[in-house]
Amino acid sequence: MSLPLVTDYEHGISAIDAQFHRPKRAAIHLLVEKGMAALIDTGTSFSIPGVIESLKQKNISTEDVAYVILTHIHLDHAGGAGECMRLFPNAKLVVHPRGAGHMANPVRLVAGAMSVYGEVEFKRVYGEIHPIDASRIIEAPDESRIDLNGRSLLFLDTPGHARHHNCIYDERSRSFFTGDTFGVSYRELDVNGLEFVFPTTSPVQFDPDAAHVSIDLIMSYKPHYAYLTHYSRIGHLPYHAESMHKLVDAHVDIAQQAKDAGADKQLVISEALKSLLMQKLSKHGCQLPQAEINELLRSDIKLNAQGLIYWLEHPTDRFKKI
Ligand SMILES: [Zn+2]
Repeated sequence: MSLPLVTDYEHGISAIDAQFHRPKRAAIHLLVEKGMAALIDTGTSFSIPGVIESLKQKNISTEDVAYVILTHIHLDHAGGAGECMRLFPNAKLVVHPRGAGHMANPVRLVAGAMSVYGEVEFKRVYGEIHPIDASRIIEAPDESRIDLNGRSLLFLDTPGHARHHNCIYDERSRSFFTGDTFGVSYRELDVNGLEFVFPTTSPVQFDPDAAHVSIDLIMSYKPHYAYLTHYSRIGHLPYHAESMHKLVDAHVDIAQQAKDAGADKQLVISEALKSLLMQKLSKHGCQLPQAEINELLRSDIKLNAQGLIYWLEHPTDRFKKI
């Protein structure tokens, strides 16, 4: 019997719930190929006991984890990487070249996140972030591959949400692990099997032009499924790609309309994003009570508004930061 925290799919793919803030908010994907395992994203260090338990249930030993792959280094994806490397003695960390240095020396990464959350909240949500020995880090540039026991995984540089973002194409399942590049999609918002997907424009590297290019690059492989970190597998990809293009543009329009809103910008943009998503959800046929939808989307709307403000206010240096 599988744990409630694990969803098993075909081709040795599973989603382990990272238990980040709430159930089914963030997934850690597990790929198993003839007894050898790879994790894609790690949640935070608090997610790792659930990963260990899930591996045990599948009779996979900690020695059999060959790779810990990060789609990007935002801490809801990469915060547990140090703990993984401590517990999985044979694992290599695979990360975008722009993220590798920050994983070996996370001082700036931690300082950046602490300045947003404050030290107490940071420690509560993310715990300790441990540096990773550089000799165990594999940089994965655009179009590089790794081999998981004969199963080829292709890495594609896919900026838009972040400049240190790879999407990973698994030829075996003809599916992508898209991190945050193809948006987020909570299962609670499914209607008759159709998912609701929306972009994440969180700080500090949202780049709409790159986001459009990355969505088209993913679709050029005609994938069967996308496995999103928030939250796991979606189908109907041509439909969602079109809708993501429109929603990225709608986010940009909302930001631009609010550019003279001064100190009220966060509130103005958040309210506009909320009404945009509510309108789309009602068209989607979502019957959930308004309060429940607000609760599901609250933190994404806040982060998306912050990222759009950063994008508005930093037209020239947005490519320089991590
Ligand atoms: Zn992210």
